[in-house]
Amino acid sequence: MREHFAIKYLRREVLPTVFCPGCGNGIVINCFLKAIEELGYRDLSGFAFVSGIGCASWCISPYFKADTLHTLHGRPIAFATGLKLARPDLNVVVISGDGDLAGIGGNHLIHAARRNMDLLVICINNLNYGMTGGQVSPTTPLNVTTTTTPYGNIEPPFELAELVAAAGANLSARWTTYHVGQLVSTIKRALKKEGFRFIEVVSQCPTNFGRRIGIERAPDLLKWIRKMCTVKKREGDGKMKLGIICERDRPGYLSMLKEVERRVQRAARGDNFRSWWIGSGIRGCGARQGGRHL
Ligand code: SF4
Repeated sequence: MREHFAIKYLRREVLPTVFCPGCGNGIVINCFLKAIEELGYRDLSGFAFVSGIGCASWCISPYFKADTLHTLHGRPIAFATGLKLARPDLNVVVISGDGDLAGIGGNHLIHAARRNMDLLVICINNLNYGMTGGQVSPTTPLNVTTTTTPYGNIEPPFELAELVAAAGANLSARWTTYHVGQLVSTIKRALKKEGFRFIEVVSQCPTNFGRRIGIERAPDLLKWIRKMCTVKKREGDGKMKLGIICERDRPGYLSMLKEVERRVQRAARGDNFRSWWIGSGIRGCGARQGGRHL
């Protein structure tokens, strides 16, 4: 039998697995590496991976044969932003969970999307804080029981892909661990773009989410997740929309930063400074005084 290239050359064999039986994280790992292989990469040397804290954060280390940064809870996007600014030549990818990215680190998520920071962020949304025992998270569906909502969740969940799209990302999409083909092709599409790209993957956590809603078997939980999602969303159906939520071609943050560098150089030479300043729309004390605030 042909051994899969991605499994042989891009992924470390770590046994026993760090994940519970039936966890969706392994599916996301394999989808990502398959996308990398199909894009023609033979190794991960041009990549750097960043994660925070939580079950999903274990996807990159120990599994990827690559440079990985396992950072503070909620802060992977902040670390990844610094890394991308210092090493713009690297493809910087964040893989982490909903509690990490949307709960503890929600501010970093929306501001990185607003800035259109050149990062690919894959959020494995297991609908709860799995690693710490199954507490309610910002994506837990309404009325669902968790460790901290034993009588049902009364907080409406964030729709992450829509939130990030509204904040300005160049690409935002949602799939589940059931939709592996679509997930692989969306990862490939996202890796070819600049700016902020976000893929939410709704994933099964049989141990801490499924158990508390009475669905302990991973295949049954996957079917439950599949029913919760739809490609053709109708207003008020309470389902999560699958597919590409938004796609734009705004210049990424690094392109805009390069433009500022060019302006600074022109200003330092005295070229076109006045015309840029008038055209920039910047007004205020500095403008009135003719100040060169660059
Ligand atoms: Fe996966 Fe849930 Fe186990 Fe974490 S607690 S490894 S998300 S099944």
